[in-house]
Amino acid sequence: MDDCIFCKIIQGKIPSEKVYEDNEVLAFKDIQPAAPIHILVIPKKHIENILEVSPKDSDLIVKIFQTINKLAKDLGVEKDGFRIITNCGRDSGQEVMHLHFHLLAGKKMGPKIVS
Ligand code: 5GP
Ligand code: ZN
Repeated sequence: MDDCIFCKIIQGKIPSEKVYEDNEVLAFKDIQPAAPIHILVIPKKHIENILEVSPKDSDLIVKIFQTINKLAKDLGVEKDGFRIITNCGRDSGQEVMHLHFHLLAGKKMGPKIVS
């Protein structure tokens, strides 16, 4: 997608601090971290959000969760815990229309994610 920030990050047209990359998945640090560890895990394929995910993406979605699993262990947060958030649509406040999973860790988070 030409006008998608995350597609530009994938293509290297916008710089990012990458923490993991393979043929299908990219993980990089959020530019405005909401926690000491705030990483965005995204598919390289442009998918707007969960509403656009179809059965043919099942391997890709598993791969994203395997990446989150690996990152949590590599970052050493698997014991203390972490939070995964994916926003979808207007009421959630989704700003970037390319499917992404926020991996938040490194501090004790509140009991609720809705405010
Ligand atoms: P959303 O609100 O769509 O779930 O989250 C989008 C996230 O992308 C935000 O947390 C925002 O800080 C992050 N973000 C937006 N533009 C950029 C960018 O150019 N580089 C990086 N690394 N993160 C970005
Ligand atoms: Zn995109």
